[in-house]
Amino acid sequence: MRRLIYFTILFFLLRNIMYIPNQNNLLYLPIIVKEYPITESGAPACRWPRNYGSSDISILYKWGSNLQTPGSNWRMAFESGISDWNNATTYIYFYEHPWGIVIFNTYYLNDGLGGYAVPHCNGTITTGYDVYGNLYSDQTGGWTVNIRHAYAGHETGHSQSIGHIVNSAIALMGTNPDPNVYFIPQPIDINFVNQIYP
Ligand SMILES: [Zn+2]
Repeated sequence: MRRLIYFTILFFLLRNIMYIPNQNNLLYLPIIVKEYPITESGAPACRWPRNYGSSDISILYKWGSNLQTPGSNWRMAFESGISDWNNATTYIYFYEHPWGIVIFNTYYLNDGLGGYAVPHCNGTITTGYDVYGNLYSDQTGGWTVNIRHAYAGHETGHSQSIGHIVNSAIALMGTNPDPNVYFIPQPIDINFVNQIYP
């Protein structure tokens, strides 16, 4: 009897672990088993809180001083990145709002970075994020729309208060062999968010 209970619990645990939103479970099963658990590096000190009485997490964002006008390269890239993550099946959703506490902006510096994202924490609770795209890297690197999209999506990904994926699977938030090809969240990226915010 005890063994039966163990197996029943194990079954439900595995069933949850193997669930991938919007994917064919059977097709991806071998990959899932291999890639769990997903290991995080550079985790921020804090995570977003749930909406009151709900599993949902609403992230209010707004545009920074350099991205007020629609149509610029980085603004369009961030719009794509935000849209990608909003289309992923997770509990997190981005809403543009005048009171936004995630601020998307650009900077111009030869620092070897495509962009960066800085959390604001109150203890273990995330209270905001500053997300930047680097104009210098973009302009001097001859970036394509896809590459900019990949960098914007990556930094937008961080603003969910998540670090990097260490696993070897191709990931927007981890190993990306070609940002010109892989510029939207991959299955492991979506699983990563769902692992941190189950
Ligand atoms: Zn990163």
